[in-house]
Amino acid sequence: MNKQMNEQELLACFDDAVRFGHIFVTYQPKINHSTGRMIGAEALMRWSHPVYGMQYPSDFIPVLEKNDLIYRADLAVFESVCSFLRRCLNVNITPVPVSVNMSRYDIYRKNYVDEIEKIRVKYDVPVKFLHVEVTETSAIGGMELVSSVLRQLHEYGYMVEMDDFGSGYSSLNVLKDLAVDVIKLDMRFLSGDIGGRGGTIISAIVQMAKWLGTPIIAEGVEKLEQADYMKSIGCKYIQGYLYSKPVKEEEYLEKINQLGHEPLTPALDLISAMDAGKFWDPSSMETLIFNNFVGGAVIYTYSNGKVEILRFNKKYVREIGMNMIEQEILDTDPFLGMDDKNRQIYKDALERAISSNDEETCETWRKVCSKTCGEDDICIRSFIRMIGKTDHQYLFYAMVQNITAEKRRFDEVLESERRMRFASEHANVYSWEVDLDTKIMRPCFRCMRDLNVPPIVQNYPEPVIESGIFTPDYADMYRDVMKKLERGEIDSFEQIMPLTVGRIPFYVRYTLERDENGNPLKAYGSATLVVDEEE
Ligand code: C2E
Ligand code: CA
Ligand code: CA
Repeated sequence: MNKQMNEQELLACFDDAVRFGHIFVTYQPKINHSTGRMIGAEALMRWSHPVYGMQYPSDFIPVLEKNDLIYRADLAVFESVCSFLRRCLNVNITPVPVSVNMSRYDIYRKNYVDEIEKIRVKYDVPVKFLHVEVTETSAIGGMELVSSVLRQLHEYGYMVEMDDFGSGYSSLNVLKDLAVDVIKLDMRFLSGDIGGRGGTIISAIVQMAKWLGTPIIAEGVEKLEQADYMKSIGCKYIQGYLYSKPVKEEEYLEKINQLGHEPLTPALDLISAMDAGKFWDPSSMETLIFNNFVGGAVIYTYSNGKVEILRFNKKYVREIGMNMIEQEILDTDPFLGMDDKNRQIYKDALERAISSNDEETCETWRKVCSKTCGEDDICIRSFIRMIGKTDHQYLFYAMVQNITAEKRRFDEVLESERRMRFASEHANVYSWEVDLDTKIMRPCFRCMRDLNVPPIVQNYPEPVIESGIFTPDYADMYRDVMKKLERGEIDSFEQIMPLTVGRIPFYVRYTLERDENGNPLKAYGSATLVVDEEE
């Protein structure tokens, strides 16, 4: 007979339950859906009361948590798992790693990690056979505490799985702050509509996990089509009723036998190898290649008009960061350094990338500031691509180039041109340049404005002679000068000539520019109005 116990009954029976093993463990396999082999299992707590029958976690765990007893149940589960693994090892069965749940209340217990470690040592189980599942909601109590618990677990060598990812509390950003080794994505939180909103969120998370190089396990998978869909977007690890309900020890051993097992590997495939998470592992070969042959790259999220950097490579630091240290870059909102105009330019590019699903480019100025170098203005050209999205958040990949020097040179040219115009306006100077190889002439704006010369003149000087700017009686002499410049026979030329049909006297000058071998390149011409001082 099964009867759900109330709080009083649960509390009254708890000591006995622990002592007499009424609280026991069931195992649910985790499967590689591509091969059908087992990659691990999760230990799930059950309570079988001698009179009331089977009790389920949803009924008694909240009660134990509320009464500060959950840690005792969890330690009992951990011990039972260690004991099981030891028995396997004793009869030469290579066990698959078992993950044990850690309540968020366990995190508040100072010595919890030391306590489980003591149990592991007592049973002499290699740490590689034990994983710890920490639920995403643990982060509610503050990142620092969870981070330090994860650090402790890692120090002892436990792999950490983030449980219930997608349950709503955290965004993708939690992933970068918490060093988890495996992500468990609960399909039940994203019920039903795989083709719609749920599917978009799922694929963004899988994408993100790939970028981080973190394997991802879909749990609560009941239907084959769910498993196939997950595999199609790059998540081949499955836990759920589709393969097996949680089962008792004996049945679990049969399953290992029947299915076979293999190790869990990061979610990388060849196609995505170039952009996958290994690039963020500082010791990998990919990182070496990435850092040396690819330019500055950054991954960030964009939501509600805000950008948050998740990852960047070394060249990114060089392109953008001056001497900023990594943390300074991660902490800097990239929009902060931009004025309204530049921020808008950048946002427009992001919006374009969202709607085009293609690479978009923009150039923006921003202020950067570092402890070592102080403040500076830099101009960045960004090539932006959207790589994932949820209903409220986008994930972007951007390659960046620092084009400040290029921009400044261009500005200098603009500035000198502006000064030239200003000067020529006052000095009545007309100027132009002739490419001697192609016979293409480019006039200054005054030539264009006053003399109707087009911006580019081919086959110079014929069209200008034809138009009458150079008068017919000077035409041959002028052609001759151009020829001499072309052949490099003269380096300069000066003469007063009547120009235009009005035969206005101008002082016409040429200067020749040669290349490094001494061959003629360009001729710079000018015409200055001759002012008769005596008039
Ligand atoms: P959980 O950690 O997310 O565990 C997965 C739950 O989903 C389990 O429920 C499992 O039986 C169930 N499940 C697995 N596949 C499917 C499926 O295809 N469809 C559906 N509908 N459900 C599936 P269970 O065993 O009832 O445990 C519920 C929760 O209780 C667990 O959620 C976990 O948060 C907690 N829990 C279980 N064992 C322990 C434990 O030893 N310690 C602690 N602190 N919490 C535990
Ligand atoms: Ca779990
Ligand atoms: Ca879960």
